[in-house]
Amino acid sequence: MTSTDSTTNTERPMVQAVEVRKSFGGNEVLRGVSIEVQRGTVTALIGPSGSGKSTFLRCINDLETFDSGDILVDGERVAYRREGTKAYELKPRIVAKRRAKLGMVFQGFNLFGHLTVLENIMIAPVQVLKQDKRIVEERALELLSKVGLADKRDAYPDSLSGGQQQRVAIARALAMEPTLMLFDEPTSALDPETVGEVLEVMRTLAREGMTMIVVTHEIGFAREVCDQVAFLEDGVIQEIGPPEQVLDNPTHERTQRFLSRVI
Ligand code: ADP
Ligand code: MG
Repeated sequence: MTSTDSTTNTERPMVQAVEVRKSFGGNEVLRGVSIEVQRGTVTALIGPSGSGKSTFLRCINDLETFDSGDILVDGERVAYRREGTKAYELKPRIVAKRRAKLGMVFQGFNLFGHLTVLENIMIAPVQVLKQDKRIVEERALELLSKVGLADKRDAYPDSLSGGQQQRVAIARALAMEPTLMLFDEPTSALDPETVGEVLEVMRTLAREGMTMIVVTHEIGFAREVCDQVAFLEDGVIQEIGPPEQVLDNPTHERTQRFLSRVI
Protein backbone atom coordinates (compact mmCIF):
# COMPACT_ATOMS: atom_id res chain seq x y z
CA MET A 1 0.00 0.00 0.00
CA THR A 2 1.29 3.46 -0.81
CA SER A 3 0.64 5.60 2.19
CA THR A 4 1.31 9.28 1.92
CA ASP A 5 0.65 11.95 4.51
CA SER A 6 -2.72 12.15 6.21
CA THR A 7 -3.77 15.36 4.45
CA THR A 8 -3.85 13.69 1.05
CA ASN A 9 -5.57 10.76 2.67
CA THR A 10 -8.68 12.74 3.60
CA GLU A 11 -8.74 15.01 0.57
CA ARG A 12 -8.24 12.61 -2.28
CA PRO A 13 -11.38 11.36 -4.01
CA MET A 14 -12.92 8.12 -2.80
CA VAL A 15 -13.09 6.80 -6.36
CA GLN A 16 -11.09 7.86 -9.40
CA ALA A 17 -11.76 5.97 -12.60
CA VAL A 18 -9.84 6.91 -15.71
CA GLU A 19 -10.66 5.66 -19.20
CA VAL A 20 -11.84 2.24 -18.06
CA ARG A 21 -12.35 -0.21 -20.90
CA LYS A 22 -13.87 -3.65 -20.71
CA SER A 23 -14.96 -6.17 -23.34
CA PHE A 24 -16.77 -9.45 -23.09
CA GLY A 25 -15.47 -11.27 -26.16
CA GLY A 26 -16.09 -8.89 -29.03
CA ASN A 27 -18.62 -6.83 -27.07
CA GLU A 28 -16.97 -3.68 -25.75
CA VAL A 29 -19.15 -2.78 -22.80
CA LEU A 30 -17.10 -0.01 -21.19
CA ARG A 31 -15.46 2.24 -23.77
CA GLY A 32 -13.49 4.68 -21.65
CA VAL A 33 -15.38 5.45 -18.45
CA SER A 34 -13.93 8.23 -16.32
CA ILE A 35 -15.45 9.53 -13.12
CA GLU A 36 -14.45 11.00 -9.77
CA VAL A 37 -16.45 10.48 -6.62
CA GLN A 38 -15.60 12.74 -3.70
CA ARG A 39 -15.80 11.62 -0.09
CA GLY A 40 -19.14 12.05 1.59
CA THR A 41 -21.01 12.48 -1.69
CA VAL A 42 -23.70 10.46 -3.44
CA THR A 43 -23.45 9.68 -7.15
CA ALA A 44 -26.38 8.35 -9.16
CA LEU A 45 -25.46 6.25 -12.16
CA ILE A 46 -28.31 6.17 -14.64
CA GLY A 47 -28.67 4.81 -18.15
CA PRO A 48 -30.52 2.28 -20.25
CA SER A 49 -30.40 -1.43 -19.61
CA GLY A 50 -27.23 -2.99 -21.02
CA SER A 51 -25.23 0.24 -20.93
CA GLY A 52 -22.60 -1.21 -18.57
CA LYS A 53 -23.71 0.18 -15.20
CA SER A 54 -23.45 -3.11 -13.32
CA THR A 55 -20.21 -4.02 -15.05
CA PHE A 56 -18.67 -0.72 -13.97
CA LEU A 57 -19.74 -1.19 -10.33
CA ARG A 58 -18.35 -4.72 -10.44
CA CYS A 59 -15.00 -3.38 -11.69
CA ILE A 60 -14.84 -0.97 -8.74
CA ASN A 61 -15.52 -3.85 -6.41
CA ASP A 62 -13.01 -6.30 -7.93
CA LEU A 63 -15.80 -8.62 -8.99
CA GLU A 64 -14.73 -8.10 -12.59
CA THR A 65 -11.38 -7.32 -14.19
CA PHE A 66 -11.08 -4.70 -16.88
CA ASP A 67 -8.84 -4.43 -19.93
CA SER A 68 -7.28 -1.00 -19.63
CA GLY A 69 -7.59 2.26 -17.77
CA ASP A 70 -7.29 2.72 -14.07
CA ILE A 71 -9.46 2.70 -10.97
CA LEU A 72 -8.32 3.97 -7.60
CA VAL A 73 -10.52 3.36 -4.58
CA ASP A 74 -9.51 5.36 -1.53
CA GLY A 75 -6.17 5.93 -3.24
CA GLU A 76 -5.49 2.24 -3.84
CA ARG A 77 -5.25 0.82 -7.33
CA VAL A 78 -7.82 -1.78 -8.26
CA ALA A 79 -6.08 -4.53 -10.19
CA TYR A 80 -6.53 -4.69 -13.91
CA ARG A 81 -5.19 -6.70 -16.77
CA ARG A 82 -4.02 -5.12 -19.97
CA GLU A 83 -5.29 -6.89 -23.02
CA GLY A 84 -3.08 -9.82 -23.96
CA THR A 85 -1.04 -9.74 -20.75
CA LYS A 86 -1.35 -11.30 -17.37
CA ALA A 87 0.49 -8.47 -15.66
CA TYR A 88 -2.15 -7.81 -13.04
CA GLU A 89 -3.24 -11.04 -11.48
CA LEU A 90 -5.79 -10.47 -8.75
CA LYS A 91 -4.25 -11.49 -5.47
CA PRO A 92 -7.07 -13.02 -3.45
CA ARG A 93 -5.88 -11.73 -0.07
CA ILE A 94 -5.45 -8.18 -1.29
CA VAL A 95 -8.79 -8.28 -3.05
CA ALA A 96 -10.50 -9.60 0.08
CA LYS A 97 -8.98 -6.86 2.20
CA ARG A 98 -9.99 -4.11 -0.19
CA ARG A 99 -13.44 -5.53 -0.80
CA ALA A 100 -14.07 -5.56 2.94
CA LYS A 101 -14.00 -1.76 2.80
CA LEU A 102 -16.77 -1.66 0.21
CA GLY A 103 -20.39 -2.43 0.87
CA MET A 104 -22.41 -3.72 -2.04
CA VAL A 105 -26.18 -4.01 -2.22
CA PHE A 106 -27.73 -5.77 -5.19
CA GLN A 107 -31.17 -5.91 -6.73
CA GLY A 108 -31.75 -9.35 -5.21
CA PHE A 109 -31.13 -9.35 -1.50
CA ASN A 110 -28.95 -12.47 -1.35
CA LEU A 111 -29.52 -13.05 2.35
CA PHE A 112 -28.67 -16.44 3.81
CA GLY A 113 -32.01 -18.20 4.12
CA HIS A 114 -30.91 -20.54 6.89
CA LEU A 115 -29.69 -17.71 9.12
CA THR A 116 -31.74 -15.26 11.17
CA VAL A 117 -31.67 -11.56 10.42
CA LEU A 118 -29.21 -10.96 13.24
CA GLU A 119 -26.98 -13.85 12.14
CA ASN A 120 -27.00 -12.54 8.55
CA ILE A 121 -25.64 -9.23 9.77
CA MET A 122 -23.06 -10.76 12.09
CA ILE A 123 -21.58 -13.46 9.90
CA ALA A 124 -19.05 -11.46 7.86
CA PRO A 125 -17.58 -9.35 10.69
CA VAL A 126 -17.23 -12.49 12.82
CA GLN A 127 -15.99 -14.90 10.17
CA VAL A 128 -14.13 -12.63 7.75
CA LEU A 129 -12.86 -9.88 10.04
CA LYS A 130 -12.58 -12.19 13.08
CA GLN A 131 -14.12 -9.54 15.30
CA ASP A 132 -15.35 -10.23 18.82
CA LYS A 133 -18.83 -11.72 18.72
CA ARG A 134 -20.29 -9.60 21.52
CA ILE A 135 -19.06 -6.37 19.99
CA VAL A 136 -20.36 -7.40 16.57
CA GLU A 137 -23.76 -8.29 18.07
CA GLU A 138 -24.03 -4.93 19.78
CA ARG A 139 -23.28 -3.13 16.53
CA ALA A 140 -25.62 -5.40 14.55
CA LEU A 141 -28.48 -4.53 16.91
CA GLU A 142 -27.75 -0.82 16.49
CA LEU A 143 -27.78 -1.27 12.71
CA LEU A 144 -31.09 -3.12 12.90
CA SER A 145 -32.58 -0.19 14.79
CA LYS A 146 -31.15 2.18 12.24
CA VAL A 147 -32.93 0.38 9.40
CA GLY A 148 -36.10 0.10 11.50
CA LEU A 149 -36.05 -3.66 12.02
CA ALA A 150 -35.01 -4.14 15.65
CA ASP A 151 -38.05 -6.36 16.23
CA LYS A 152 -37.04 -8.73 13.41
CA ARG A 153 -33.70 -9.84 14.85
CA ASP A 154 -34.75 -13.49 15.17
CA ALA A 155 -36.84 -13.68 12.01
CA TYR A 156 -35.77 -15.63 8.94
CA PRO A 157 -35.45 -13.77 5.63
CA ASP A 158 -38.33 -15.53 3.88
CA SER A 159 -40.77 -14.24 6.48
CA LEU A 160 -39.89 -10.64 5.57
CA SER A 161 -41.16 -8.41 2.77
CA GLY A 162 -38.80 -7.47 -0.04
CA GLY A 163 -38.28 -4.01 1.42
CA GLN A 164 -37.48 -5.47 4.83
CA GLN A 165 -35.02 -7.95 3.29
CA GLN A 166 -33.30 -5.17 1.41
CA ARG A 167 -32.99 -3.14 4.62
CA VAL A 168 -31.37 -6.17 6.27
CA ALA A 169 -29.01 -6.41 3.27
CA ILE A 170 -28.05 -2.76 3.79
CA ALA A 171 -27.47 -3.36 7.52
CA ARG A 172 -25.37 -6.41 6.66
CA ALA A 173 -23.20 -4.33 4.33
CA LEU A 174 -22.84 -1.59 6.96
CA ALA A 175 -21.72 -4.14 9.56
CA MET A 176 -18.39 -4.31 7.73
CA GLU A 177 -17.96 -0.58 8.37
CA PRO A 178 -17.38 0.20 4.70
CA THR A 179 -15.89 3.47 3.49
CA LEU A 180 -17.89 3.27 0.26
CA MET A 181 -21.33 1.81 -0.48
CA LEU A 182 -22.26 0.59 -3.96
CA PHE A 183 -25.94 0.01 -4.76
CA ASP A 184 -27.00 -1.76 -7.95
CA GLU A 185 -30.69 -1.05 -8.55
CA PRO A 186 -31.54 -1.68 -4.90
CA THR A 187 -35.26 -1.03 -5.35
CA SER A 188 -35.89 -2.51 -8.80
CA ALA A 189 -37.10 -5.88 -7.52
CA LEU A 190 -39.37 -4.44 -4.81
CA ASP A 191 -43.12 -4.05 -4.62
CA PRO A 192 -43.87 -0.37 -5.15
CA GLU A 193 -45.16 0.03 -1.57
CA THR A 194 -41.82 -1.00 -0.05
CA VAL A 195 -39.55 1.09 -2.30
CA GLY A 196 -39.93 4.16 -0.10
CA GLU A 197 -38.69 2.52 3.11
CA VAL A 198 -35.47 1.41 1.40
CA LEU A 199 -34.87 4.83 -0.17
CA GLU A 200 -35.46 6.36 3.26
CA VAL A 201 -32.64 4.27 4.76
CA MET A 202 -30.37 5.31 1.89
CA ARG A 203 -31.34 8.94 2.43
CA THR A 204 -30.33 8.64 6.09
CA LEU A 205 -26.96 7.17 5.10
CA ALA A 206 -26.39 10.03 2.68
CA ARG A 207 -27.20 12.58 5.40
CA GLU A 208 -24.70 10.91 7.68
CA GLY A 209 -21.98 11.43 5.09
CA MET A 210 -21.61 7.92 3.64
CA THR A 211 -19.97 7.94 0.20
CA MET A 212 -22.33 6.13 -2.16
CA ILE A 213 -22.64 5.19 -5.82
CA VAL A 214 -26.19 4.23 -6.68
CA VAL A 215 -27.35 2.69 -9.94
CA THR A 216 -31.00 3.60 -9.99
CA HIS A 217 -34.04 4.42 -12.06
CA GLU A 218 -35.50 6.42 -9.15
CA ILE A 219 -35.08 9.83 -10.67
CA GLY A 220 -36.78 11.54 -7.71
CA PHE A 221 -34.23 10.03 -5.35
CA ALA A 222 -31.38 11.07 -7.64
CA ARG A 223 -32.68 14.62 -7.77
CA GLU A 224 -33.18 14.96 -4.02
CA VAL A 225 -30.28 13.03 -2.56
CA CYS A 226 -27.45 12.89 -5.08
CA ASP A 227 -24.61 15.35 -5.48
CA GLN A 228 -23.86 14.26 -9.01
CA VAL A 229 -25.67 12.28 -11.66
CA ALA A 230 -23.81 10.38 -14.37
CA PHE A 231 -25.63 9.23 -17.49
CA LEU A 232 -24.01 6.15 -19.04
CA GLU A 233 -24.88 4.98 -22.53
CA ASP A 234 -22.96 2.93 -25.07
CA GLY A 235 -20.17 2.35 -22.56
CA VAL A 236 -19.33 6.02 -21.95
CA ILE A 237 -20.51 8.64 -19.53
CA GLN A 238 -22.35 10.92 -21.90
CA GLU A 239 -23.19 13.57 -19.35
CA ILE A 240 -22.28 14.19 -15.72
CA GLY A 241 -23.05 17.00 -13.30
CA PRO A 242 -25.33 18.11 -10.49
CA PRO A 243 -28.86 16.67 -10.66
CA GLU A 244 -30.48 19.97 -11.58
CA GLN A 245 -28.24 20.10 -14.63
CA VAL A 246 -28.33 16.49 -15.82
CA LEU A 247 -31.93 15.73 -14.91
CA ASP A 248 -33.64 19.06 -15.47
CA ASN A 249 -31.52 20.74 -18.12
CA PRO A 250 -29.61 17.98 -19.92
CA THR A 251 -27.46 19.33 -22.71
CA HIS A 252 -27.05 16.03 -24.52
CA GLU A 253 -29.79 14.85 -26.77
CA ARG A 254 -29.23 11.25 -25.62
CA THR A 255 -29.77 12.19 -21.98
CA GLN A 256 -32.96 14.02 -22.92
CA ARG A 257 -34.22 11.02 -24.83
CA PHE A 258 -33.45 8.63 -21.95
CA LEU A 259 -35.11 10.85 -19.36
CA SER A 260 -38.22 11.31 -21.46
CA ARG A 261 -38.63 7.54 -21.34
CA VAL A 262 -38.09 6.99 -17.61
CA ILE A 263 -39.73 10.04 -16.00
P1 ADP B 1 -26.52 -2.59 -17.15
O1 ADP B 1 -26.22 -2.89 -15.71
O2 ADP B 1 -26.32 -1.16 -17.50
O3 ADP B 1 -27.87 -3.07 -17.56
P2 ADP B 1 -24.50 -4.59 -17.69
O4 ADP B 1 -23.24 -4.03 -17.14
O5 ADP B 1 -25.19 -5.61 -16.87
O6 ADP B 1 -25.48 -3.39 -18.05
O7 ADP B 1 -24.24 -5.23 -19.09
C1 ADP B 1 -23.64 -4.54 -20.14
C2 ADP B 1 -23.40 -5.48 -21.32
O8 ADP B 1 -22.43 -6.44 -20.95
C3 ADP B 1 -24.62 -6.25 -21.73
O9 ADP B 1 -24.62 -6.33 -23.15
C4 ADP B 1 -24.41 -7.61 -21.12
O10 ADP B 1 -25.03 -8.60 -21.89
C5 ADP B 1 -22.91 -7.75 -21.15
N1 ADP B 1 -22.39 -8.60 -20.06
C6 ADP B 1 -22.47 -8.32 -18.73
N2 ADP B 1 -21.88 -9.28 -18.00
C7 ADP B 1 -21.41 -10.20 -18.88
C8 ADP B 1 -20.68 -11.43 -18.77
N3 ADP B 1 -20.32 -11.91 -17.57
N4 ADP B 1 -20.39 -12.10 -19.91
C9 ADP B 1 -20.74 -11.63 -21.11
N5 ADP B 1 -21.41 -10.47 -21.31
C10 ADP B 1 -21.75 -9.76 -20.22
MG1 MG C 1 -27.39 -3.72 -14.22
